[in-house]
Amino acid sequence: MKEIELIIEHSKHFRVRYGEIKYIIIHCSTKSPYEQVKQLDQLGLSAHFIIGRDGKIIENLSVDNVAYHAGISSWDKSLDKSLNEYSIGIELEAPTLGQLKSDYTNKQIRSLLNLLDYLVVCYGIRKENILGHSDIAPDGKPDPGIGFPWKTLANHGFGLWYDLRSLDKSIDEVELLDKIGYNIDNLKATRIAFCRHFLPSEVDKKVEVKWLVDNVFDDVFEIKNKEKYLKTLRAVAKVYTKNKEK
Ligand SMILES: [Zn+2]
Repeated sequence: MKEIELIIEHSKHFRVRYGEIKYIIIHCSTKSPYEQVKQLDQLGLSAHFIIGRDGKIIENLSVDNVAYHAGISSWDKSLDKSLNEYSIGIELEAPTLGQLKSDYTNKQIRSLLNLLDYLVVCYGIRKENILGHSDIAPDGKPDPGIGFPWKTLANHGFGLWYDLRSLDKSIDEVELLDKIGYNIDNLKATRIAFCRHFLPSEVDKKVEVKWLVDNVFDDVFEIKNKEKYLKTLRAVAKVYTKNKEK
């Protein structure tokens, strides 16, 4: 395991953690890391880590404490209103809120991978429990965006990727999303969240950040290639259910 250099900028917004850490949630913000520290503080929010495009990592809060990063969120039928108690929050700097691949630099992703390496070993976090903010809050949050390299992460053992040759038996959209872990109170929003993570070609790029933040739930969003969507959904459900059984 590589040694990780941290810049300490601790937040005053936290509470002591009692729950077991189960999830790592990836976020992004258009702001620079130091601007993020300031902004989170002003909003009464916090994250555990903030990674800049230069690859430098700020520790905003000790992992032993609960950070206020997830807001209203759920996964796998979790009972609490928020996953804060059970998660580690990592913010990344991404100029267009992660809509472009070029938002994320190699240095930054390398730092993220080193950090994940450390956290997963230290806290015994399962790989399917590394998720994006949009996954756990489909109708509220668009981050880390369609430019985020989920497949690269999965290639390093963080998060899961799918194989289109291995499909779940079900062809029921709701059942499949539910099997993966998504909350489906708002099916249309969940559909977008799924595509943001696993099928970004289905999500139109909206580089105007203000639009994106104000229109996370997109009324005009329609799946273009329904066959491909369902096949991908079945493949993702297959790999998630297989991993959860282990
Ligand atoms: Zn977020």
